[in-house]
Amino acid sequence: MSNLKPSINKVVKYCTGQLGVDVNLRSNSFNYDSDTQTINCRWNASEQDLLCSMLHEVGHVIQAPSTFALIRASKKRNKALIAELEYTAWQEGWNVAVELSINTEELYIRYKQLWMMHWSSYLEYLYSSDKPDDLKHMAWSYNEYALRASKNLGVLLTNLG
Ligand SMILES: [Zn+2]
Repeated sequence: MSNLKPSINKVVKYCTGQLGVDVNLRSNSFNYDSDTQTINCRWNASEQDLLCSMLHEVGHVIQAPSTFALIRASKKRNKALIAELEYTAWQEGWNVAVELSINTEELYIRYKQLWMMHWSSYLEYLYSSDKPDDLKHMAWSYNEYALRASKNLGVLLTNLG
């Protein structure tokens, strides 16, 4: 397998430079913490999985608010919102890979595997969960990320003139 360190470095640079978010490579799990504006990455992931999951979290940082953001909150709406934003974060993440020219065929195969696996798990969780309050909180925070992201993007575009 090809050496992915240069690609990983490109994504980290993109995060700290263009996006203004930190990357922590010594976390126990992958997530984006919007309060500290930090992308956390699992310390023991393979280089390929690190790169793919990092791109997914970048997708969360830059994704647009949900199509369902302004629909009155309900169990159904919250589930649809989370499912949508989990999916589009993978889509947006790959767009960044293309933008950074790190989009190899080999990487895309693994990326799509992880995309399918993680998105399916989310759907299974969403549609089997009997804790509507958890979903409500999740939907709310997801949408906060996206709203903040779209504002950040606005600032970014303004700065670019
Ligand atoms: Zn996600």
